Order: sequence, then C-alpha cells, then structure tokens
Amino acid sequence: MTHRAVFLDRDNTLNYDPGYIINPDEIKLMPGVKEGINELKNSFGFKLIVISNQSGIARGLFKKNDVQIFNRKLNELVNNNIDDFYFCPFHPDFSGKEDSLCRKPSPNMVLNAAVKHDIDLTISYMVGDMPSDVECGINSGVKTILLNYEMNDDKIMLLHNAGKRPNFVAMNFSEACKYIIEDYTGGNN
Ligand SMILES: [Mg+2]
Repeated sequence: MTHRAVFLDRDNTLNYDPGYIINPDEIKLMPGVKEGINELKNSFGFKLIVISNQSGIARGLFKKNDVQIFNRKLNELVNNNIDDFYFCPFHPDFSGKEDSLCRKPSPNMVLNAAVKHDIDLTISYMVGDMPSDVECGINSGVKTILLNYEMNDDKIMLLHNAGKRPNFVAMNFSEACKYIIEDYTGGNN
C-alpha cells in the first residue's frame, strides 16, 4: 500500500527553538502540535516524518547522538505518533559541499523517506516555518504550508522573489492541520 505523509520541520514548527536547542528537558511543544499530530495520524492515516536541518552538529555544538536523544523525547511528548526522523548534520560553511546536499531546501531527505516508507508524494504535504521548508516541499513535489506565527512578510517576500509560493500560509499548527485535512478530504470530513 502506498501512503500519504505530512513532512514536518522540527524547530519552531513542533517545538520552540531559541537557537540550536539540544537539551531534551527544555522541549516545549508549539500550540496545537500534540492535538494536530494525533488527528493527522490517527483520524486520517498520514505518516508523519520530521525533516530537519541540524547544522549544530557541523558547527561542533552537539553530536548526532544528542539529536537522536532529543528526537526520541520529542516523539514521546506527541505519544510516539511520529514515524521517522531525518536530519541533515551538515552545513556548507563547515562541511564538504557534497555532504551538504541533504540540507533543505534540497529534497533529498524527503525523497529518501518516500522510498523507505512507500510514500506517494503527490498526496503528501510539508509544513514548516521557513522559506527553505517551503522550497524543500516544492522541490519534492508535495503541497506546502508555511507557518507564519509572527506574520512576517519577509518570509513571503523572499519566496515571492524566488518565484515560489506555498499552497497555504497558516498562523499556527492547528490552522496548518485544518488546511491539510480539508484539502485531503475535499471539505467532506
Ligand atoms: Mg524551523
């Protein structure tokens, strides 16, 4: 069976991030995340896959294993509803160019996840708070939702100037989930 998925950015999409967050004891979920994730997964059968840039590893701030511990704790906080976590540990300023090819806006992590989890990208979505999340989604062939908590026009302009447009701009995670569910069900849920 081929699955549909929602690909999720991690920092400032699922959890607050003051910058290079790594301590699992400091995880605070963004509003609506726990409920939204539960609904997408258990009411509508979406696979949920986190796609995250973690250049803090390349910068020497923390190790791969620290990110894995953080991710495990984050998943516990959402009742282990997340199916898989992908992260790119590289940054072109600190790593080889070739290594950094996984980094969003590259579609590589999404494409790898699609193969592993048998995902049909044409019925899948990407949710994230940065223009690079939207670009990654577009590059992967999924529909895209930009989270714009702070109503920051710069993000929209940056995408606009690059000739890119998210399918939807949401003010919070609940709104993003509502869009996905309505889009998926054609408003008939
Ligand atoms: Mg983010």
